[in-house]
Amino acid sequence: MNMIHVEKFIVNPLQENSFVISDETGECILIDPGYFYPEEHDEIKNYIAENNLKPIRIANTHCHFDHILGVEFIRNNYHVPFSAHPDDAFWIEKATDQGQMFGFEVKPVQPTDSFLHENEQIKFGNSGFEIIHVPGHSPGHVVFYNEENGILIAGDVLFYGSIGRTDLPGGNYEVLISNIKNKLFKLPDKTKVYTGHGPETTLGFEKNTNPFLT
Ligand SMILES: [Zn+2]
Ligand SMILES: [Zn+2]
Repeated sequence: MNMIHVEKFIVNPLQENSFVISDETGECILIDPGYFYPEEHDEIKNYIAENNLKPIRIANTHCHFDHILGVEFIRNNYHVPFSAHPDDAFWIEKATDQGQMFGFEVKPVQPTDSFLHENEQIKFGNSGFEIIHVPGHSPGHVVFYNEENGILIAGDVLFYGSIGRTDLPGGNYEVLISNIKNKLFKLPDKTKVYTGHGPETTLGFEKNTNPFLT
């Protein structure tokens, strides 16, 4: 079995969870890089250097501005491609405006270099994640599932005891609920869920206790 390591960084004023995921080869992918402050840039650079990691791509669950604040920093430093689902491309164009709505300055982010589609794999080292399309919080929201390690990187679809907001452009409450129930709750209950904000949970715990889903 290929053990994968998930490192979480809680970043930017929205307390977003950015992940670096690596395996025994040292190759890694960066998911939802929201690094914003200079000290957050230092922290991620030091982590990669100290662990001798080799970033090979940025893969985003979705493209709300708090999840892409660090994309250009990572691109410039490691020359890796940025990929996300095509239905969230409009959020990249809106990043500066959306940031302004939340009261802070966001530099423009260039479009993705490649797209992520459902049922494709994201590969790194000897490992990989399956891509599952889960719209509702945003239209191009995807989650990343590694069956062997029982890990789901869920972005802003599902939180500990809650779900993602559905009032932003392209959001849809009914679509979100039915996607969680029909796609995510088909996976094993013991699957560990890494969320886009807040603590980790499991699919079984949310299935049994989450007030939006029981
Ligand atoms: Zn979001
Ligand atoms: Zn978010």
